[in-house]
Amino acid sequence: MTLEAIKFFSVIGMFSLLFIGEQLFPYFSTHRQPFIHALRNIALGLFNSLVSLILLFTLLKGVEHWADIRQFGLLNQLQLNAAISLILALLSIDLWQYLWHRMNHRLPMLWRFHQVHHCDTEMDASTAVRFHIGEILLSGLTKIPLILIFGLSIEHLIIYEIIALPVILFHHSNLRIPASLDHLLRYFIVTPHLHRLHHSEQAEETNSNYSSLFSVWDRLLLSFQSQALDDHFKLGLGKAYSQSDHSSLGGLFSLPFSNKYHTIN
Ligand SMILES: [Zn+2]
Ligand SMILES: [Zn+2]
Repeated sequence: MTLEAIKFFSVIGMFSLLFIGEQLFPYFSTHRQPFIHALRNIALGLFNSLVSLILLFTLLKGVEHWADIRQFGLLNQLQLNAAISLILALLSIDLWQYLWHRMNHRLPMLWRFHQVHHCDTEMDASTAVRFHIGEILLSGLTKIPLILIFGLSIEHLIIYEIIALPVILFHHSNLRIPASLDHLLRYFIVTPHLHRLHHSEQAEETNSNYSSLFSVWDRLLLSFQSQALDDHFKLGLGKAYSQSDHSSLGGLFSLPFSNKYHTIN
């Protein structure tokens, strides 16, 4: 089986398990229309995957080939054993994801796109693929310096996704898990509790917990938050976002270009 096929089946498998779990053991039982909500987010995710495949994959493959034949980049230069190379590659990609995510919350131009992910008021596993195509393309382009500096291969990027995507689906899910399990897991990975705080309406909580896979980056770079600030926890970006902004594909697509809502947290 190819790495792409493993990635595809791990995402489909994890999403299916979480979707069933979310219906049986929901964290928020107030979520309405989970099927329509998931279909809308998945439609956005499929559109993004298709455009990325057409526009980004060949470009990144070309950059990797260019770096490989010139032995460009740290990992190409160091000639480490494959397992150590892979571990360093996974850590460098995950750190880059952290920094990129943090930039999305700091720079108004990037926040315009990233708000599409955050205005979901009924977060579940499908929110993990709810991104504006603008953010996906910009994020893909930032992989070019990453490949060049570290000498990463496309295989490194796909293996990272095989490990990270199920965790990202899990921490967006509306699955109720025991607090003790969340507490244990958060020493290693980003858990539903940590990422729920990142999707809070309150700016102090939204501007924390930027990590994607390993929670260590938030701890090291002082953005780790494990306690809700008060009991009135709400998901989303508040009342400024009307229902039509976040409940139609057209509304989500045009949100970054609207001058009404581009204030950063
Ligand atoms: Zn965010
Ligand atoms: Zn998220």
